[in-house]
Amino acid sequence: MWRTQHLILLAALALSALGGCKSTERPFIRDVDAKPLVRTTEERVRLKQPCRKYPAYIPDESTNGPLVPERVIRVNYHIMNSADTNHAFVAEIGTPYVQELTREINQKLAENIPMSLPAARGTPVLPTRLRLEIAPIRGMFRDDGVYYHFDDELYAYVHKGRNRNNSDMRVIKKYAIQPDSVLNIFILPHHPDSVKSQTYSAGGGGIALGKAMKLSGIITTGLPPSEFAGMTVHEIGHILGLGHTWRYSDGCDDTPHHPNCFYPGEPPCDSLISNNVMDYNHWQQAWTPCQLGSAHRNLSRRSGTARSLLKRNWCEPLPDHDLVIRDTQVWEGEVDLFGDVVVAEGGHLTIRCEVSFPRNARLLVQPGGQLVIDGGLLTNDCGLPWKGIVLGCRGRDCGRVTLTEEAEIHHVEATVRKD
Ligand SMILES: [Zn+2]
Repeated sequence: MWRTQHLILLAALALSALGGCKSTERPFIRDVDAKPLVRTTEERVRLKQPCRKYPAYIPDESTNGPLVPERVIRVNYHIMNSADTNHAFVAEIGTPYVQELTREINQKLAENIPMSLPAARGTPVLPTRLRLEIAPIRGMFRDDGVYYHFDDELYAYVHKGRNRNNSDMRVIKKYAIQPDSVLNIFILPHHPDSVKSQTYSAGGGGIALGKAMKLSGIITTGLPPSEFAGMTVHEIGHILGLGHTWRYSDGCDDTPHHPNCFYPGEPPCDSLISNNVMDYNHWQQAWTPCQLGSAHRNLSRRSGTARSLLKRNWCEPLPDHDLVIRDTQVWEGEVDLFGDVVVAEGGHLTIRCEVSFPRNARLLVQPGGQLVIDGGLLTNDCGLPWKGIVLGCRGRDCGRVTLTEEAEIHHVEATVRKD
């Protein structure tokens, strides 16, 4: 009898203990669960700074991990010709040519190479995580993103002399398609009158103009797409906010100055040859960490001038893209995520800038995990609903969340329904 009572008591105790440790999850309620974190104005200004600094945007797996994803830049092409077809770069030739040019560019972007300048020896060679995609108008029958225009006034490119028009925006204003969301690449022949001049160089040249660029030399020289991939990537570099490096201050301390030699040759071009994308040289293929960080900053920041050119592939979740935080991490850049985030036991995540979660994703803070939203904004960048912060609890022990008063959380499912 005693034994039976004892066993029953033990079983009851065990059940109650199990009940006490039961794991549950519940939505985070800001007014109830948040611990406030108060900052002075000075601190707030200082802490906002990191969102503007390039190191948080360097595509380096060892520092920023998956927070700097591959970016797909949407492009289209315009081939300019005179009304009486001054050149034979027509659709049968031009379209396969620019498709091959796009492949060559993507090949270059996929193969970042070590900096060749002696002063830059040892510079890390990181993946660029940049790629182009030709973007026709969605749903437009037979649109392949390559357009042909016949215009006697605007078809030609002149980079020298009194008829110089390389920075003239008229051809772009007249013919650009999806100019806000697609990088419009105009391919123009050198003007036949200029080509006749012995002092005019009718070779490859380009100019970046806002979210468009003009390229010349492709039609006139007849050279293959591989010869123009570097030049085009260079202009894309400008559109992503990068400057020349050889004798200018480009804001990067890993791009040393040099004589800007195009090919190897007589001294100083026997050794001081750059292969950097933002110089004039035969390769234009090496990107430094600072250049990549600066380019990705422009693409990641909501205020970035080139962000609107991206394929917006972060609105919906992707499989196998959940992040589990088990260590201490501080996110100091604007981020687009592709899955859930779990702050696991022992994990400590501080978010200081805007972070976009895909539709239906959630930010789970497990017991023993800590989340600090320090002036940041959690949202879905596409205006779609997501599940917000979820607290994991073991009994009464839940994940901890701290917020500054200016921290914001937008587009959480319940809020979206209420609106
Ligand atoms: Zn340039």
